[in-house]
Amino acid sequence: MQTVAFLGLGVMGSGMAARLLDAGFPVVVWNRSAARAEPLRSKGAAVAASPSAAAAQADVILAMVADDGASREVWLGANGALASAREGTIAIECSTVSPAWVDELAGAAASRRCILVDAPVLGSRPQAKDGQLVFLVGGGADHVERVRPVLEPMSRAIVPLGPVGSGARMKLVNNFMAGTQAATLAEALAMIEAIGLDRDAAFSVLANGAPGSPLVKTVGPRMLARDYDVNFALSLMRKDLIYAIDEAAAHGVTLSIAATARSLYEKAIGAGLGGADFSAVIEPIRATNRAAKGGHR
Ligand code: NAP
Repeated sequence: MQTVAFLGLGVMGSGMAARLLDAGFPVVVWNRSAARAEPLRSKGAAVAASPSAAAAQADVILAMVADDGASREVWLGANGALASAREGTIAIECSTVSPAWVDELAGAAASRRCILVDAPVLGSRPQAKDGQLVFLVGGGADHVERVRPVLEPMSRAIVPLGPVGSGARMKLVNNFMAGTQAATLAEALAMIEAIGLDRDAAFSVLANGAPGSPLVKTVGPRMLARDYDVNFALSLMRKDLIYAIDEAAAHGVTLSIAATARSLYEKAIGAGLGGADFSAVIEPIRATNRAAKGGHR
């Protein structure tokens, strides 16, 4: 079986790497904060001291880190993975990053005779843990087939979308809709609370009616219960909206609703909620509504 180097063991990466170990792949892991690698070591992973040390032993390298800056660091930074990757190695970028960065990274991989496939994911903590992610894949058809056996144990679907960068582009369209929908839901629930409707009855109408998307059904109860244990950090959703807005703008498209939603996430970050789950975007809206109500007494 191919040896897999796995870089980035946060909420998503730790679940994904565990699935690869369960499927019998030899896995070498690395994480910036070393302590996060220990649970994987006890499951049988080798732990490397740097991305470059992990990559030197690998046939396939996966990264699942926060953003463009983190991705640049693990692939191209001091002790980055591409420095020691062997010729012909497949590099899979699973993080949600900007298409501009994917294009640059593909060039850097090619200059080292490696192949980049971008494969960001749909799904969150539970789907990563259970091997039920959907991979949105950009890359040549033959390269997608080469990565399929590695992605399969982590996924319920692998969706080829076109050349390198297509996965990243699709992911941003998806998260633009998810991020704006969560912000809309937050305003709707805060409105329900402010006007004094029965919260459970009102939410049930929304969840079982036309607006009742999977996101509304899963995120709504968390907003109502103020359960902000992190599945997907609020600061990462803001990042995705920014990448989506920038990508759209690069093609002459204005995402005006994303821009409004972004300001709500930024308000929440200003209130210290960047590390909480993105469902916490409702909190500053509640606070604004309370203040407005106070003003009207
Ligand atoms: P997370 O729990 O916050 O983990 C982030 C990871 O990135 C950690 O391993 C962190 O290392 C690493 N990192 C951050 N900055 C770094 C740097 N400068 N150099 C090296 N490593 C760095 O995030 P996550 O939820 O797993 O998300 C990972 C990626 O998947 C993100 O791009 C996110 O947008 C995307 N995603 C997340 C979800 C979700 O529901 N959570 C769903 C789909 C896609 P430390 O441990 O040292 O901080």
